[in-house]
Amino acid sequence: MGLLSDLMEKIFPKNKPVDPKAAPGPVTVPEPAAVPKPAAVPEPGTVPESRPEAKPAVKPGDVKVEKKPEIIETEEKPVAEKITIGHVHMSGCTGCLVSLADNYEGLFTLLDNYADLNYCLTLADVRDIPKMDVALVEGSVCINDPHSVADIKKTRENATIVVALGSCAAYGNITRFSRGGQWNQPQHESYLPIGDLIDVDVYLPACPPSPESIKNVAVMAYLLLRGTDEQKELAAAYLKPLMDLAKRGTEACGCDLMFDVINQGLCMGCGTCVATCPVRAITMVYGKPNIDSDLCIKCGACYAQCPRSFFNFDVMNQFEAIGEAIDAAMGKGDE
Ligand code: SF4
Ligand code: SF4
Repeated sequence: MGLLSDLMEKIFPKNKPVDPKAAPGPVTVPEPAAVPKPAAVPEPGTVPESRPEAKPAVKPGDVKVEKKPEIIETEEKPVAEKITIGHVHMSGCTGCLVSLADNYEGLFTLLDNYADLNYCLTLADVRDIPKMDVALVEGSVCINDPHSVADIKKTRENATIVVALGSCAAYGNITRFSRGGQWNQPQHESYLPIGDLIDVDVYLPACPPSPESIKNVAVMAYLLLRGTDEQKELAAAYLKPLMDLAKRGTEACGCDLMFDVINQGLCMGCGTCVATCPVRAITMVYGKPNIDSDLCIKCGACYAQCPRSFFNFDVMNQFEAIGEAIDAAMGKGDE
Protein backbone atom coordinates (compact mmCIF):
# COMPACT_ATOMS: atom_id res chain seq x y z
CA MET A 1 0.00 0.00 0.00
CA GLY A 2 1.38 3.44 -0.89
CA LEU A 3 2.00 6.29 1.53
CA LEU A 4 -0.97 8.27 0.25
CA SER A 5 -3.22 5.21 0.67
CA ASP A 6 -1.88 4.71 4.20
CA LEU A 7 -2.60 8.35 4.98
CA MET A 8 -6.15 8.18 3.58
CA GLU A 9 -6.81 4.92 5.46
CA LYS A 10 -5.67 6.63 8.69
CA ILE A 11 -7.80 9.74 8.16
CA PHE A 12 -10.89 8.05 6.69
CA PRO A 13 -10.96 4.46 8.00
CA LYS A 14 -13.22 2.35 5.80
CA ASN A 15 -14.08 -0.22 8.45
CA LYS A 16 -14.57 0.60 12.11
CA PRO A 17 -13.35 -2.09 14.50
CA VAL A 18 -15.88 -4.82 15.14
CA ASP A 19 -16.37 -6.81 18.33
CA PRO A 20 -15.10 -10.24 17.39
CA LYS A 21 -17.73 -11.86 19.71
CA ALA A 22 -20.57 -10.23 17.81
CA ALA A 23 -19.12 -10.89 14.41
CA PRO A 24 -20.99 -13.37 12.28
CA GLY A 25 -19.59 -16.89 12.35
CA PRO A 26 -18.00 -18.61 9.41
CA VAL A 27 -20.13 -18.70 6.31
CA THR A 28 -21.55 -22.15 5.57
CA VAL A 29 -22.57 -23.09 2.09
CA PRO A 30 -26.13 -24.47 2.16
CA GLU A 31 -26.86 -27.89 0.75
CA PRO A 32 -28.28 -27.59 -2.75
CA ALA A 33 -32.08 -27.72 -2.58
CA ALA A 34 -33.66 -30.89 -3.90
CA VAL A 35 -35.04 -30.32 -7.38
CA PRO A 36 -38.82 -30.95 -7.31
CA LYS A 37 -40.13 -33.55 -9.67
CA PRO A 38 -42.18 -32.09 -12.49
CA ALA A 39 -45.96 -32.35 -11.83
CA ALA A 40 -47.90 -34.77 -13.97
CA VAL A 41 -49.37 -32.99 -16.96
CA PRO A 42 -53.15 -33.66 -17.23
CA GLU A 43 -54.43 -35.10 -20.37
CA PRO A 44 -55.82 -32.46 -22.69
CA GLY A 45 -59.58 -31.99 -22.11
CA THR A 46 -59.53 -33.38 -18.53
CA VAL A 47 -59.99 -31.29 -15.36
CA PRO A 48 -57.41 -31.79 -12.62
CA GLU A 49 -58.91 -33.37 -9.49
CA SER A 50 -57.39 -30.94 -7.02
CA ARG A 51 -55.68 -27.58 -7.23
CA PRO A 52 -52.09 -27.37 -5.99
CA GLU A 53 -51.96 -26.53 -2.26
CA ALA A 54 -51.23 -22.88 -1.45
CA LYS A 55 -48.17 -22.23 0.72
CA PRO A 56 -49.04 -21.13 4.29
CA ALA A 57 -48.61 -17.39 4.86
CA VAL A 58 -45.44 -16.38 6.68
CA LYS A 59 -46.16 -14.77 10.06
CA PRO A 60 -43.99 -11.83 11.26
CA GLY A 61 -42.74 -13.94 14.17
CA ASP A 62 -41.37 -16.51 11.75
CA VAL A 63 -38.95 -13.99 10.22
CA LYS A 64 -35.52 -14.33 11.80
CA VAL A 65 -33.59 -11.07 12.09
CA GLU A 66 -29.85 -11.59 12.13
CA LYS A 67 -28.09 -9.75 14.95
CA LYS A 68 -26.06 -6.88 13.54
CA PRO A 69 -22.40 -6.69 14.55
CA GLU A 70 -21.82 -4.25 17.37
CA ILE A 71 -19.84 -1.12 16.42
CA ILE A 72 -17.23 -0.10 18.95
CA GLU A 73 -16.46 3.59 19.02
CA THR A 74 -12.76 4.37 19.28
CA GLU A 75 -11.74 6.51 22.22
CA GLU A 76 -10.78 10.05 21.32
CA LYS A 77 -8.29 11.88 23.47
CA PRO A 78 -9.41 15.28 24.70
CA VAL A 79 -7.91 17.96 22.50
CA ALA A 80 -7.59 20.32 25.46
CA GLU A 81 -4.56 18.36 26.69
CA LYS A 82 -2.67 18.96 23.49
CA ILE A 83 -0.35 21.85 22.85
CA THR A 84 -0.68 24.01 19.74
CA ILE A 85 2.18 24.17 17.27
CA GLY A 86 2.52 26.52 14.35
CA HIS A 87 4.94 26.36 11.43
CA VAL A 88 5.89 29.89 10.41
CA HIS A 89 7.50 30.00 6.98
CA MET A 90 9.87 32.89 6.41
CA SER A 91 12.52 32.80 3.65
CA GLY A 92 13.69 29.24 3.32
CA CYS A 93 13.46 26.30 0.99
CA THR A 94 10.75 24.30 2.89
CA GLY A 95 13.31 21.56 3.52
CA CYS A 96 12.73 21.79 7.29
CA LEU A 97 8.98 21.22 6.83
CA VAL A 98 9.74 18.25 4.58
CA SER A 99 12.02 16.92 7.32
CA LEU A 100 9.18 17.27 9.87
CA ALA A 101 6.86 15.36 7.53
CA ASP A 102 9.53 12.67 7.08
CA ASN A 103 8.62 11.39 10.56
CA TYR A 104 5.81 9.44 8.83
CA GLU A 105 3.98 7.42 11.53
CA GLY A 106 5.74 9.43 14.26
CA LEU A 107 4.09 12.56 12.87
CA PHE A 108 0.64 10.93 13.14
CA THR A 109 1.35 9.94 16.76
CA LEU A 110 2.45 13.48 17.49
CA LEU A 111 -0.66 15.03 15.92
CA ASP A 112 -3.00 12.39 17.42
CA ASN A 113 -1.81 12.68 20.99
CA TYR A 114 0.22 15.77 21.69
CA ALA A 115 -0.11 18.65 19.31
CA ASP A 116 -2.56 20.45 17.06
CA LEU A 117 -0.99 22.15 14.07
CA ASN A 118 -2.89 25.45 14.22
CA TYR A 119 -0.83 27.43 11.73
CA CYS A 120 1.04 26.28 8.64
CA LEU A 121 0.73 28.03 5.29
CA THR A 122 1.29 24.74 3.46
CA LEU A 123 -0.99 22.47 5.50
CA ALA A 124 -3.59 24.59 7.33
CA ASP A 125 -6.01 27.18 5.94
CA VAL A 126 -5.26 29.90 8.50
CA ARG A 127 -4.16 33.33 7.31
CA ASP A 128 -3.34 35.26 10.49
CA ILE A 129 -0.73 34.04 12.95
CA PRO A 130 -2.75 32.81 15.96
CA LYS A 131 -1.78 32.30 19.61
CA MET A 132 0.24 29.10 19.89
CA ASP A 133 2.33 27.23 22.43
CA VAL A 134 5.25 26.52 20.11
CA ALA A 135 6.24 28.34 16.91
CA LEU A 136 8.58 26.44 14.61
CA VAL A 137 10.06 29.20 12.47
CA GLU A 138 11.70 28.11 9.24
CA GLY A 139 13.80 30.48 7.17
CA SER A 140 15.40 33.88 7.67
CA VAL A 141 13.65 37.24 7.48
CA CYS A 142 13.82 39.43 4.39
CA ILE A 143 14.09 42.92 5.85
CA ASN A 144 13.09 44.47 2.51
CA ASP A 145 9.68 42.92 2.98
CA PRO A 146 7.54 44.68 5.64
CA HIS A 147 5.12 41.71 5.80
CA SER A 148 7.91 39.33 6.79
CA VAL A 149 9.16 41.69 9.50
CA ALA A 150 5.61 42.14 10.85
CA ASP A 151 5.02 38.36 10.78
CA ILE A 152 8.12 37.49 12.79
CA LYS A 153 7.24 40.12 15.41
CA LYS A 154 3.67 38.80 15.63
CA THR A 155 5.05 35.28 16.00
CA ARG A 156 7.04 36.37 19.03
CA GLU A 157 3.98 38.07 20.54
CA ASN A 158 1.75 35.04 20.04
CA ALA A 159 4.04 32.10 20.84
CA THR A 160 5.12 30.83 24.24
CA ILE A 161 8.20 29.08 22.82
CA VAL A 162 9.88 30.22 19.59
CA VAL A 163 12.10 27.63 17.92
CA ALA A 164 14.51 28.64 15.15
CA LEU A 165 13.99 25.57 12.98
CA GLY A 166 16.98 24.98 10.77
CA SER A 167 20.08 26.96 9.97
CA CYS A 168 18.43 29.71 7.91
CA ALA A 169 16.30 30.73 10.90
CA ALA A 170 19.16 30.29 13.37
CA TYR A 171 22.14 31.68 11.45
CA GLY A 172 20.98 32.87 8.05
CA ASN A 173 22.67 29.98 6.27
CA ILE A 174 22.74 30.39 2.49
CA THR A 175 20.32 33.33 2.58
CA ARG A 176 23.20 35.35 4.09
CA PHE A 177 24.72 35.30 0.61
CA SER A 178 21.70 36.72 -1.17
CA ARG A 179 22.39 39.93 -3.08
CA GLY A 180 18.94 40.43 -4.54
CA GLY A 181 18.04 40.24 -8.21
CA GLN A 182 16.06 37.01 -7.97
CA TRP A 183 13.75 36.63 -10.90
CA ASN A 184 10.47 36.89 -8.96
CA GLN A 185 11.49 39.28 -6.18
CA PRO A 186 14.52 41.28 -7.42
CA GLN A 187 14.18 43.91 -4.68
CA HIS A 188 14.82 41.36 -1.92
CA GLU A 189 18.48 41.62 -1.11
CA SER A 190 18.96 41.39 2.63
CA TYR A 191 18.07 38.52 4.96
CA LEU A 192 18.65 38.19 8.68
CA PRO A 193 18.34 35.22 11.02
CA ILE A 194 15.28 35.57 13.21
CA GLY A 195 17.40 36.05 16.35
CA ASP A 196 18.50 39.45 14.98
CA LEU A 197 14.89 40.68 15.14
CA ILE A 198 13.24 38.84 18.05
CA ASP A 199 14.16 36.84 21.15
CA VAL A 200 14.41 33.14 20.30
CA ASP A 201 14.11 30.40 22.91
CA VAL A 202 15.47 27.31 21.14
CA TYR A 203 17.85 26.82 18.21
CA LEU A 204 17.66 23.66 16.16
CA PRO A 205 20.28 24.23 13.48
CA ALA A 206 21.20 22.01 10.53
CA CYS A 207 20.22 22.11 6.92
CA PRO A 208 17.71 20.64 7.47
CA PRO A 209 17.47 19.31 11.05
CA SER A 210 16.83 15.58 11.14
CA PRO A 211 13.21 14.39 11.30
CA GLU A 212 13.95 12.75 14.64
CA SER A 213 15.38 15.92 16.21
CA ILE A 214 12.30 17.95 15.18
CA LYS A 215 9.99 15.27 16.58
CA ASN A 216 12.00 15.12 19.82
CA VAL A 217 11.82 18.89 20.30
CA ALA A 218 8.04 18.81 19.75
CA VAL A 219 7.58 15.96 22.27
CA MET A 220 9.85 17.67 24.78
CA ALA A 221 7.95 20.95 24.38
CA TYR A 222 4.76 19.01 25.15
CA LEU A 223 6.30 17.42 28.27
CA LEU A 224 7.65 20.79 29.35
CA LEU A 225 4.23 22.45 29.09
CA ARG A 226 1.89 19.59 30.07
CA GLY A 227 4.00 16.94 31.79
CA THR A 228 4.54 15.90 35.39
CA ASP A 229 7.29 17.56 37.43
CA GLU A 230 9.65 14.71 36.57
CA GLN A 231 8.87 14.96 32.85
CA LYS A 232 9.31 18.72 32.97
CA GLU A 233 12.76 18.23 34.45
CA LEU A 234 13.76 15.78 31.70
CA ALA A 235 12.38 18.06 29.00
CA ALA A 236 14.29 21.02 30.41
CA ALA A 237 17.50 18.95 30.42
CA TYR A 238 16.96 17.94 26.78
CA LEU A 239 16.17 21.46 25.60
CA LYS A 240 18.87 23.29 27.61
CA PRO A 241 21.74 22.86 25.12
CA LEU A 242 19.47 24.10 22.34
CA MET A 243 18.48 27.05 24.51
CA ASP A 244 22.16 27.73 25.17
CA LEU A 245 22.73 27.81 21.41
CA ALA A 246 19.98 30.44 21.13
CA LYS A 247 21.74 32.55 23.77
CA ARG A 248 25.06 32.20 21.94
CA GLY A 249 23.95 34.40 19.06
CA THR A 250 23.16 34.37 15.38
CA GLU A 251 26.62 33.93 13.94
CA ALA A 252 28.14 30.53 13.37
CA CYS A 253 30.49 28.96 10.90
CA GLY A 254 33.20 26.36 10.60
CA CYS A 255 35.58 28.90 12.15
CA ASP A 256 33.78 28.49 15.50
CA LEU A 257 34.63 24.83 15.43
CA MET A 258 38.22 25.66 14.50
CA PHE A 259 38.73 28.25 17.27
CA ASP A 260 36.58 26.78 20.07
CA VAL A 261 37.26 23.08 19.64
CA ILE A 262 40.11 22.12 17.34
CA ASN A 263 42.58 24.87 18.29
CA GLN A 264 41.74 24.29 21.97
CA GLY A 265 42.85 20.68 21.72
CA LEU A 266 39.33 19.45 22.51
CA CYS A 267 38.73 17.62 19.21
CA MET A 268 38.63 13.85 19.59
CA GLY A 269 38.46 13.19 15.87
CA CYS A 270 35.01 11.59 15.91
CA GLY A 271 34.08 12.91 12.44
CA THR A 272 30.59 14.05 13.45
CA CYS A 273 31.23 17.51 12.00
CA VAL A 274 32.25 15.99 8.66
CA ALA A 275 29.07 13.94 8.51
CA THR A 276 26.95 16.94 9.53
CA CYS A 277 28.22 19.53 7.06
CA PRO A 278 25.61 19.79 4.27
CA VAL A 279 28.08 21.18 1.70
CA ARG A 280 31.03 18.89 2.51
CA ALA A 281 33.22 21.81 3.54
CA ILE A 282 34.96 19.64 6.16
CA THR A 283 37.36 16.81 5.50
CA MET A 284 39.46 14.80 7.93
CA VAL A 285 43.19 15.40 7.58
CA TYR A 286 45.47 13.33 9.80
CA GLY A 287 42.50 12.51 12.04
CA LYS A 288 41.41 16.11 12.55
CA PRO A 289 38.82 18.21 10.68
CA ASN A 290 39.99 20.65 8.04
CA ILE A 291 37.47 23.34 7.07
CA ASP A 292 37.32 24.91 3.62
CA SER A 293 35.95 28.37 4.43
CA ASP A 294 35.23 29.05 0.73
CA LEU A 295 32.68 26.24 0.76
CA CYS A 296 31.20 26.97 4.20
CA ILE A 297 27.65 28.34 4.00
CA LYS A 298 27.71 29.30 7.71
CA CYS A 299 24.87 27.03 8.77
CA GLY A 300 26.40 26.30 12.18
CA ALA A 301 25.46 22.64 12.04
CA CYS A 302 29.01 21.39 12.67
CA TYR A 303 29.31 23.40 15.88
CA ALA A 304 25.85 22.41 17.06
CA GLN A 305 26.50 18.70 16.52
CA CYS A 306 30.08 18.50 17.77
CA PRO A 307 30.09 16.66 21.10
CA ARG A 308 33.04 18.75 22.28
CA SER A 309 31.70 22.21 21.37
CA PHE A 310 29.73 22.24 24.59
CA PHE A 311 29.24 19.72 27.32
CA ASN A 312 25.92 19.55 29.02
CA PHE A 313 26.03 17.43 32.13
CA ASP A 314 22.25 17.64 32.58
CA VAL A 315 21.85 15.78 29.30
CA MET A 316 24.76 13.42 29.93
CA ASN A 317 23.49 12.44 33.38
CA GLN A 318 19.92 11.89 32.27
CA PHE A 319 20.61 10.55 28.81
CA GLU A 320 18.82 7.20 29.32
CA ALA A 321 15.81 8.70 31.08
CA ILE A 322 15.41 11.29 28.32
CA GLY A 323 15.54 8.59 25.64
CA GLU A 324 13.01 6.47 27.54
CA ALA A 325 10.65 9.45 27.96
CA ILE A 326 10.69 10.11 24.22
CA ASP A 327 10.21 6.41 23.37
CA ALA A 328 7.36 6.09 25.85
CA ALA A 329 5.65 9.18 24.45
CA MET A 330 5.87 7.96 20.88
CA GLY A 331 5.02 4.34 21.61
CA LYS A 332 6.79 1.30 20.26
CA GLY A 333 6.98 0.90 16.53
CA ASP A 334 6.45 4.57 15.69
CA GLU A 335 9.96 5.03 14.47
S1 SF4 B 1 31.64 24.01 7.94
FE1 SF4 B 1 29.79 23.05 7.05
S2 SF4 B 1 28.51 22.53 8.80
FE2 SF4 B 1 30.07 23.99 9.55
S3 SF4 B 1 29.07 26.00 9.41
FE3 SF4 B 1 30.22 25.66 7.49
S4 SF4 B 1 28.73 24.75 6.09
FE4 SF4 B 1 27.87 24.56 8.12
S1 SF4 C 1 32.66 16.84 15.72
FE1 SF4 C 1 34.00 17.98 17.11
S2 SF4 C 1 35.17 16.39 18.19
FE2 SF4 C 1 34.24 15.43 16.38
S3 SF4 C 1 35.83 15.62 14.78
FE3 SF4 C 1 34.50 17.38 14.57
S4 SF4 C 1 35.50 18.99 15.78
FE4 SF4 C 1 36.39 17.06 16.41
